[in-house]
Amino acid sequence: MCSNNENENDYIIRVEKVSKLYGAGKQEASKLLAEGKTKDEVYKKTGVTAALWDVNLNIQRGEIFVIIGLSGSGKSTLVRCFNKLNKITSGKIYYDNKDLEKLTAAQLLELRRDKISMVFQSFGLMSHRDVISNVAYGLEVKGVGREERERQAQEFVSMVGLEGLENKSCGQLSGGMRQRVGIARALANSPEVLLMDEPFSALDPLVRRDMQFELLSIQRKLEKTVIFITHDIDEAFKLGDTVAIMRDGRLVQVGTPEEMSTNPANDYVRRFIDSADKSKVFTAKNVMIIPTTIVKRTDTIDYALNEMKKSGLSSVYVLNDKLHLVGIATLAQAVRAKREKLTLDQVMEHNIITTSADTLLADIMPIAADTPYPIAVVDEKQRLVGIITKAALLTSLI
Ligand code: ADP
Ligand code: MG
Repeated sequence: MCSNNENENDYIIRVEKVSKLYGAGKQEASKLLAEGKTKDEVYKKTGVTAALWDVNLNIQRGEIFVIIGLSGSGKSTLVRCFNKLNKITSGKIYYDNKDLEKLTAAQLLELRRDKISMVFQSFGLMSHRDVISNVAYGLEVKGVGREERERQAQEFVSMVGLEGLENKSCGQLSGGMRQRVGIARALANSPEVLLMDEPFSALDPLVRRDMQFELLSIQRKLEKTVIFITHDIDEAFKLGDTVAIMRDGRLVQVGTPEEMSTNPANDYVRRFIDSADKSKVFTAKNVMIIPTTIVKRTDTIDYALNEMKKSGLSSVYVLNDKLHLVGIATLAQAVRAKREKLTLDQVMEHNIITTSADTLLADIMPIAADTPYPIAVVDEKQRLVGIITKAALLTSLI
């Protein structure tokens, strides 16, 4: 994700030296904090709570940025500063390079209504209303007519897997279903950023895993910037492109899960990572990505070559007209077919390794080592539902 020539335009949100103190006597408290005194010490001496102290971070457009920390470490306080629900005590926050302090009232309204949507653990749905009108609520507030807003809402109802439940009242839904409604509602606003404050914490582990998977596929499809809060390191590493660890109002480390695992900033981070429950082994479903490059057996060689070129992949899965997986064609094979005037079917690999979505990663590892291609994940009807790249497999197990 990170390129060498990154500049401030790559970042949708920048946080510079941000502090948020609660209580009178902030000056004295700031002095002590600057000297390195802890949140506890400062509170005992001054009665001031340092919810945030000297936080610096950048959030890239289109990434899932996870903020993790124990309860009280400042996670909620921080994200509530991003849409100015919290006013910072000092420092700067930039949204799209605009200083939040300098927004006019109209710009702030626009930020909250159109750019940043929040999804909470407690759902915040109107339980007497049905699914579709909850999802359409943001559009209703914007004055979009009923027919049009429900048409738009429908797309997101389908995306989160609630098709058929449009007219069910939200009060009748399970926790997992309600959280899907919450996500669909946030998405229906077409925000640039989704702020998710421990959205899955109240869900049972299986439902939670489904929701994590759902969020990942939605994010890949829509390329939203997602800022996700959790206190669960497994969840943080599974979802985060970048993970930030907070402790007592300070930011301890920011990095990719891989960087953090291989190079923890201190013992605190190391302990946090060690607490990751390694016995909870993931399945194919948790790491697979939705294939974006697919060709049909009957497609021309030029089409296949073009698809590979567009996606930058060196192989492409081939489906028949019933969308069943029939093989994989590599770039080299396609080039040969073009030269020798053969069809895709004549050159491609028919003998491919597949796995099911529920297979444990531990069982996939040995297969992955032996195949040069991403592994295809298929359903019981041999339909392609995802692919697992070797990189995804390896990083998921760190
Ligand atoms: P987290 O979301 O990581 O659990 P919070 O951001 O909610 O943590 O809280 C960070 C710290 O700020 C905590 O010590 C909390 O008690 C304190 N805090 C949060 N909101 C207020 C407030 N309105 N007044 C005083 N202290 C607060
Ligand atoms: Mg919180």
